[in-house]
Amino acid sequence: MRYFKVLGVVSGYKPKNEYDRLINVFTDYFGKISATAKYAQKPTSPFVGRLNPMNVCGLNIYKSAKGKFTITQCVLIETFENIKNNIALLSIGFAILEIAEKLTYQRLGMKKYFNLIYKTLKTVNKNVKPYFVYLIFKIKFLYMLGLIPSFKHCVACNKAIDINKIQIWGIENVMCQECFKNNQDRFKDKIFEKNMLRFINFILRNNYEKNLKIKISKKEIEILEVFLHEIWEKHDLPSINSEKLIKQMI
Ligand SMILES: [Zn+2]
Repeated sequence: MRYFKVLGVVSGYKPKNEYDRLINVFTDYFGKISATAKYAQKPTSPFVGRLNPMNVCGLNIYKSAKGKFTITQCVLIETFENIKNNIALLSIGFAILEIAEKLTYQRLGMKKYFNLIYKTLKTVNKNVKPYFVYLIFKIKFLYMLGLIPSFKHCVACNKAIDINKIQIWGIENVMCQECFKNNQDRFKDKIFEKNMLRFINFILRNNYEKNLKIKISKKEIEILEVFLHEIWEKHDLPSINSEKLIKQMI
């Protein structure tokens, strides 16, 4: 079986040969791929207006024996017009696609990543606290990648630890009250406010609808930014160019 039906969000394209296009698309089945769309540069092509950045499409894909992808058919599912018509939302949309592109590899079983990207774009498109939505996306995406720990075990005694009994926490570790007295020096992480852990935990456990009901202060936004920045540095993740544009917009 070399033909696949997948869902994909287009992140970009470039010309290939005289008439074709190479489409970058993040799919629910293969994760990120580059796929050829034959004759997509011709104005009469059925791909015109469909295989554009930010669009979510149903794609029929052929995978060659050498592993090359070709898009044979495309059905438009969502175009996110609000995002495309608002430069602030657009910069957030592109940052989301850039994160998906830079932090993942082509591999099977990417459905949960795709679903998160799709849900996030739908939420950004509503233009309610879009920057907060973007930060939530980053936290959830990093958590899926295993770059945010689940904060369930004390780093010193390794016992399961109730979130309300955590004495101290950093980007990698948490420590219980008992251990804290004698093991403070073991804590080399940057330390955050205790309440922020509950906040981040809430973000991870709940969908956008619930998260957007939180009243969030400027200070909390800043702490989330610092938290994400620390994780980015710690894991030496690539910088997200579209993010610079967001900063100018919000
Ligand atoms: Zn302990």
